[in-house]
Amino acid sequence: MKITEWKFSHKAFLKSDLTLPSLQDGEVLISVEKVGICGSDLFAMETVADDSVLRLGHEWVGRVVESLCDSLEVGDLVTSTAVMGCGACKICHDEKSNLCQKGFSLGGKDIGMIRTKAILPASQLLKVTDFSLNEIVLLEVAAVAEEALSQISKLGATKDHRTLIFGGGPVGILTALRIKEEGFNYTLIETDRYRIQMAKDLELNILPLPMALTDSESTFDYIIDTSGDGHDKNGFWKYMNFFTHMSSHCLIVGKYKREVEINSNLLAMKNITLKWMRGMPKETLDRAIVFWKGKFEVIASKIISHEFHFDNVQEAFDKALIRDECMKIVINVAEEEV
Ligand SMILES: [Zn+2]
Ligand SMILES: [Zn+2]
Repeated sequence: MKITEWKFSHKAFLKSDLTLPSLQDGEVLISVEKVGICGSDLFAMETVADDSVLRLGHEWVGRVVESLCDSLEVGDLVTSTAVMGCGACKICHDEKSNLCQKGFSLGGKDIGMIRTKAILPASQLLKVTDFSLNEIVLLEVAAVAEEALSQISKLGATKDHRTLIFGGGPVGILTALRIKEEGFNYTLIETDRYRIQMAKDLELNILPLPMALTDSESTFDYIIDTSGDGHDKNGFWKYMNFFTHMSSHCLIVGKYKREVEINSNLLAMKNITLKWMRGMPKETLDRAIVFWKGKFEVIASKIISHEFHFDNVQEAFDKALIRDECMKIVINVAEEEV
């Protein structure tokens, strides 16, 4: 079967045709409906070598159009996390499919979801009902937030601690919304006016960074760095000393484009815990789906700030790369075939 995909190489997007193999047992053929652009897509574009090829897109919703498995039927709406675990190894059985070394990832060199159709293993997909397409495309981001909550909880965070969420992009906003629902004492810090306004609209406890920096008493027990690269500023890293006190815990959700310097003296003297996240297992996505059912519509309609047609993938990424007055950008794939 012939399909169309967008590839990124030599700093530009290129639309090309591709033939899919025939469906194997346990697989489904998916018609992709929508794909969200993630900060990690931008990170990959900005750090990849010119002559290599990227196939981006791991926040997606699609419809099953052919099924060779028992769990999914034609017509089902499905999504997944970025990492497709093998489903068979001990790591997958321990509900850590994001750490599986035998599976593959969406949005890397091999397969991205900015394509009309895809063949994927049914065992790694989640069927989603009672959510709109725009809500489903945002669920992977909600799962990142869900994982951040579970990771800081494992590090000992409770409602009685002071938690800082540093960076009010889609991940930061959803993390703030999620831990607010949990009853946490949290502060969200952001620099961008547009994003600050959105956080206010969503009734979050938001503090502009310059204001936060005037209060030297303002330290936190737990810090979740959701700034990613923070537009080439290495996110939270340079503010670590300012916002931490003795025995603070820092969870870094994204990646930094530039090298970061480990100030071992600072980390040692303050007894700071540092933890990174590598995506989340599919069980976390499942929990996010259960949690947000029935209360995600307004959130998704605010966070998805722009939608682009499948023909305009380059424009969609150009907009995302400027990182100005935008939140989540979504590419509407399915319209292509209407
Ligand atoms: Zn993502
Ligand atoms: Zn595995």
